[in-house]
Amino acid sequence: MTTNVVFVIDTNQKPLQPCSAAVARKLLLRGKAAMFRRYPAVIILKKEVDSVGKPKIELRIDPGSKYTGFALVDSKDNADFIIWGTELEHRGAAICKELTKRSAIRRSRRNRKTRYRKKRFERRKPEGWLAPSLQHRVDTTLTWVKRICKFVPIMSISVEQVKFDLQKLENSDIQGIEYQQGTLAGYTLREALLEHWGRKCAYCDVENVFLEIEHIYPKSKGGSDKFSNLTLACHKCNINKGNKSIDEFLLSDHKRLEQIKLHQKKTLKDAAAVNATRKKLVTTLQEKTFLNVLVSDGASTKMTRLSSSLAKRHWIDAGCVNTTLIVILKTLQPLQVKCNGHGNKQFVTMDAYGFPRKSYEPKKVRKDWKAGDIIRVTKKDGTMLMGRVKKAAKKLVYIPFGGKEASFSSENAKAIHRSDGYRYSFAAIDSELLQKMAT
Ligand SMILES: [Zn+2]
Repeated sequence: MTTNVVFVIDTNQKPLQPCSAAVARKLLLRGKAAMFRRYPAVIILKKEVDSVGKPKIELRIDPGSKYTGFALVDSKDNADFIIWGTELEHRGAAICKELTKRSAIRRSRRNRKTRYRKKRFERRKPEGWLAPSLQHRVDTTLTWVKRICKFVPIMSISVEQVKFDLQKLENSDIQGIEYQQGTLAGYTLREALLEHWGRKCAYCDVENVFLEIEHIYPKSKGGSDKFSNLTLACHKCNINKGNKSIDEFLLSDHKRLEQIKLHQKKTLKDAAAVNATRKKLVTTLQEKTFLNVLVSDGASTKMTRLSSSLAKRHWIDAGCVNTTLIVILKTLQPLQVKCNGHGNKQFVTMDAYGFPRKSYEPKKVRKDWKAGDIIRVTKKDGTMLMGRVKKAAKKLVYIPFGGKEASFSSENAKAIHRSDGYRYSFAAIDSELLQKMAT
């Protein structure tokens, strides 16, 4: 089996144990089930099922800033089997861009027409407030968790909560960690440094070698063990630098000196944003799902993935969250989901200067189709064609066909999946993963 499992619900829409694609195909062909939903694939049985055993599938989530990985894991025989995976691509950057554009337009408009405005006080953000681009990550993740719970009997949810413990990093005892390389304690600091300094020697840019933790201001001269005083260097550079200060060591290389000093000042802003979102996500899941939500840290996820010798993918990382067992892939083709948004909800269109250019026109939504619907069209010669509706006009739908946009009579079209704000695709089967599976 190399594809995701198919979710199964009974005629009362009670979630049952998922089945393989082959079994689902058989059930569909024999008329014992019907297609309920395309993405994710769900079939509905035409009979009632009374006895459903205790749920034993776990949903594991690896929330990230750009992608969130989901994996359904079935644990048996002392191993974890990933039976279903999804990668959810967020649109945080797009939201941020749109909001920045809007605020710029509003600001410039206020500056042009400056009547007196009363000062506004008490504009504090409510507690637990997240920027819309971050809140979106929590919201879409919750949507997908709820969606999965509707179709699969879920035992518990595991979430990777903290990537780097920032507070721990600043007060970390480097001596201890140096002697414990390879353990969980050192892992987090090392991972954070690798991420921060781009996985290369800070002094000679050499990559793919063993990097040593290096004190920017030497420890022998009283340099601290704080994260901000640490960098990574190859063995050669580390020895060469010895107990020289960075100004001495890089006397002839002004450019690099400036670069390192600049980078040193950069806080782990990205990591901080991810951490804030993750914490909110866990509390939201606890409040909204009534399931047991377990948390784990990023370092143990990586350890599990490496000991299972799996490649780095968001959905595989998700499968390795909160476990010490060996993780085995049962699927090679995760569902790829991209957040698209639900389109523009603005009533009045504006020009680049923020002036209303058109008065409000109610958008004529065609009753039958709208942009984003996935449909199947029967062509005149009887062949079928599947596509995504680009726009719907009276009696016609436009879907991409042969690299171009083609119009088809809307009477010959049948809905496969209605537009729901996401774009779905399957990547080609990963050859790197396939090799791993064969061995
Ligand atoms: Zn070096």
